[in-house]
Order: sequence, then C-alpha cells, then structure tokens
Amino acid sequence: MELVDVETPQINDDEVLVQVKSCGICQTDLKIFKGEIPPPIVVLPHIPGHEIAGIVKAVGKKVQGIAVGEAGIVYIYIACHACDWCMSGRENLCPNLRRVGFELPGGYAQYVRIPSYAFCPFDPRLSFNEMAVLPDAVATAYRAVTVLGNVRPGQNILIVGAGGLGIHAVQIAKLCGARVLVADRKDKALQLAREFGADFLIPVDKGIDKSPLDHIREITKGKGVDAVIEIVGAKETLTWSLPSLKKGGKLIIVGYNPGQPFPLDTMAMHYNEWEIKGARLSTKAELLQVIRLVEQGKIKPVVSKTFPFEKANEALKALSEETTTGRLVLTF
Ligand SMILES: [Zn+2]
Ligand SMILES: [Zn+2]
Repeated sequence: MELVDVETPQINDDEVLVQVKSCGICQTDLKIFKGEIPPPIVVLPHIPGHEIAGIVKAVGKKVQGIAVGEAGIVYIYIACHACDWCMSGRENLCPNLRRVGFELPGGYAQYVRIPSYAFCPFDPRLSFNEMAVLPDAVATAYRAVTVLGNVRPGQNILIVGAGGLGIHAVQIAKLCGARVLVADRKDKALQLAREFGADFLIPVDKGIDKSPLDHIREITKGKGVDAVIEIVGAKETLTWSLPSLKKGGKLIIVGYNPGQPFPLDTMAMHYNEWEIKGARLSTKAELLQVIRLVEQGKIKPVVSKTFPFEKANEALKALSEETTTGRLVLTF
C-alpha cells in the first residue's frame, strides 16, 4: 500500500461525509492485499477498510435526522432495498450489493462518503477505536451465534478460532447462556478467550497427543456440541469441527478460504441430520442491536493494538504474522 493524497469525496443529497477516526483491520483486508478478491469486486487503485467509526463532517440536502458532529459507525453493505432479499430482511444477501472497502472506497482514508442509511450513531462517550470493530468483528459474530446458530441457554457451543471475530463470538455465546468451548492454535488467543468467559480451552497443535475431537467428546460426555461457529473455515479445522457436532447440530461457517473446497461425508450428514449454514456479515437491524449491547456494557469490543493510519502496512504485516490477538485498529 502507498500513502497518497486524494480529493475529499463530494457528497450527493442523500449522503453523508464521515471523517474517519478509527478503522478496524480484518483478515479480508489481507485477502484483498494478496489479490484473492479480484475485479470486479476490488478494482485498483483501491482504498480498503470496512470497519469505520467517525464523525459526520457534512450532510446532504435531503438527509434528515443526522447532524454534523455526530459520532457513528458505518454499516458496510449498501443494498438496493428493492430485491427479494432486501424485501425479506436479508439485505446482506442483496445481489446488487456494493460494500464499503470492497466495491466502494473504504476507511483507510480521512474521509468516506456513504448513503445516510449506512450511518449508525452511537453514544459519543464510547471509544472510537472500540466502536470501529462493531460492523464486522462484532456484528458478524452476533448474527452467526444468535440468528443462524440460534444458541440457547445450557447448550454446548464450540468456537473455532479465537481471533478478532472469535473473541466476540465467545462473549455473545456466553450472553446467550451457553457453555463455551474455544479452539485455537495460539495459547495467547486461548488465554484471552478465557478472560472473556470461555469455559473450556482446546489447544489445536499437531504436537499434542489428544486430538481436538477427543477433547470435545470428553467435555460433552460423548454427545458433541449443539453448534460450531467456524471462524477459520479451513479443511484442517472442518475435518474435526464438523464431526464434533451432536446429532441434529449446526455448523455455521463464518471464515472462508478462497478456492479450497472441503469434501463432505454425505453418509454422516444423513445419519446425524447435521445442518451447515454460511454466515455473511449482519443486517443493519442486527448492527443496531449490537450497538445497544455494547452501550449497555454487555459486549466488550476487543482491540488489542492500534496503529497510526500512516503505518497501515505495518499493521497488515502484524495481522499476517499472527503476532497479535483481538482486533487491530488504525487511528487518525
Ligand atoms: Zn471483515
Ligand atoms: Zn437488494
């Protein structure tokens, strides 16, 4: 990435100009950086960044209810609000979708232009660095656990991957009253998960005698878990995370690896009536619920390190080298 001067975006009548205060860094930014999300999605030159918190710098003539100086975060998905999916409350699946930081310029910049619909205000006493990670790292975990996983009190829930998203999935599953098992390769990530309420830690390392599956079976007395929240979504983890499900259990796929399909044991699927669901970000309504939960102190956004905006390359490097836990955030 290169630091360059660009024009301040000009807003239309129904848009707001947000002065970016903080922008979270996602694994997807690394995929974009490596060219794994090619045109027509990401076209160069590109400004990445889809976890934006900032203040309103200007509002368009037709915008109502948003004032200059207000603090807010940006709902990433700019949907059409007219298709079958939008009409049925699934705007995250809109085929006409344009996303901030993907098809549209993102938050690794001082200013970003968005439709007023995408602006979600929050209590300005909260931290911009923490609020920045809500649109993806917290809201995606929220939809996966509560809406798609339908997690209920007393259930056993396995979270695979305790990184930027996983650490919030842990908190949300606890909030739902579940017993939470967390699997990760990194001891530091597991310890952090413990701090945020994880009941059982499952180290994933080839050097360990006991496989994650044996661990999970022991903890659940041979039954398996009610739901798996798969935040890694790789062959290596799916091999044991899918069979760790209880009969009738659900696997929610949040993380993904482009071009690396996973073979399915159809006989096991048949006998166990396992469900597999993909999870894609959240709706705006769900993001608003997440803001309220954070305002009430029920969910704590976990930002482990901040980098000045000018050091975005360094921040991406730190994420790729897995030297940090929790979410990384660029500050302005
Ligand atoms: Zn993301
Ligand atoms: Zn639509």
